[in-house]
Amino acid sequence: MKLFTTEDVKRDALEGQTLAVLGYGSQGRAHANNLRDSGYNVIIGARPGGPTAKAAEAAGFEVFDFAEATAKAQHISMLVPDMVQPAVFEQIKDHLQDGDTLLFAHGLNVHFGAIEPPKNIDVTMVAPKSPGDLVRRQYQEGRGVPCLRAVYQDASGEAAERALSYAHGLGGTHAGVLDTTFAEETETDLFGEQAVLCGGTAQLVMHGFDTLVEAGYQPEAAYFECLHELKLIVDLLYEGGLDKMYEFISDTAAYGDLVSGPRIIDDSVKARMKDVLTDIQDGTFAKAWMDEYAAGSNGYQAMLTKRRAHPIESTGSKLRDRMSWLAKKNKAQEAA
Ligand code: NAD
Ligand code: MG
Ligand code: MG
Ligand code: MG
Ligand code: MG
Repeated sequence: MKLFTTEDVKRDALEGQTLAVLGYGSQGRAHANNLRDSGYNVIIGARPGGPTAKAAEAAGFEVFDFAEATAKAQHISMLVPDMVQPAVFEQIKDHLQDGDTLLFAHGLNVHFGAIEPPKNIDVTMVAPKSPGDLVRRQYQEGRGVPCLRAVYQDASGEAAERALSYAHGLGGTHAGVLDTTFAEETETDLFGEQAVLCGGTAQLVMHGFDTLVEAGYQPEAAYFECLHELKLIVDLLYEGGLDKMYEFISDTAAYGDLVSGPRIIDDSVKARMKDVLTDIQDGTFAKAWMDEYAAGSNGYQAMLTKRRAHPIESTGSKLRDRMSWLAKKNKAQEAA
């Protein structure tokens, strides 16, 4: 395991380069602003006249279409949504020059072959392990979120050093930059979000809520126990691992965890996690998602609509109205 920190950044391997950030969304905004504050010449590629092009201009960036931004820059960050990247790549590929860098924040398209970069460029990844708003906020507080770094293709001989300088420019070397590969980042990222972080957690929360409500308890009580308090536990895990959680919860909670946890999340869950991992590794998941997107995403949208109609949502929405400390901005408001 190699974890790079600020001392490992021997020189600025991106000195003199123009950095184009394609897409000014969650990651794009954070990368562009952090890199500019780190002293780089940063330009934005976006759809002309679109809402994010306006937001980037309002933040003082020069904005071009994707092809023009690529032509003007030597280092190009592909930060449009994963499903949009193959189409944007078609627009920029003829404008990539010898020794340019094409950087990703997630390896999906390159790893599963939806984007096939030309051989004369560097292809790298710097993947912050957090949403973009935290990448920005940590940087502004003089810190940084941990990042993964990978080199898929090294035409210049400097790909690894350039990617480390980029991660440093994001603030990533404060917490550490871990070396990985496109395969490892892609497969572990998809597995984490499907099995544990999003898929597993959402399902666990909903089943817990439904179990209490079906047993006749108030939905508000179920909401507090199964969703609201989750943050307090996750904060303890984040700060100090399982040990810190056991230090702070009651003995009753710890005993109940040890005897009932394995009844809920048993070996059959792990066996199905392995099935999910296999679908990720062999490309079954990526193909299904790309096919769904290409067909217009109707199935995806229908599943999302159904999920949003779950009673935990209306229950929580009313309770959260009273929690004045919660961030109330949605994604579009964050961007403005
Ligand atoms: P996003 O959904 O915030 O969108 C990025 C931007 O792309 C938009 O703001 C817009 O400027 C542009 N865009 C959107 N649709 C477009 C279209 N149809 N045509 C052209 N441009 C369009 O994206 P994101 O979440 O920042 O993800 C960017 C990359 O970063 C992805 O590869 C993602 O996997 C990776 N990543 C995201 C996160 C995260 O927390 N969001 C974390 C790590 C890595
Ligand atoms: Mg160029
Ligand atoms: Mg992730
Ligand atoms: Mg992901
Ligand atoms: Mg309790």
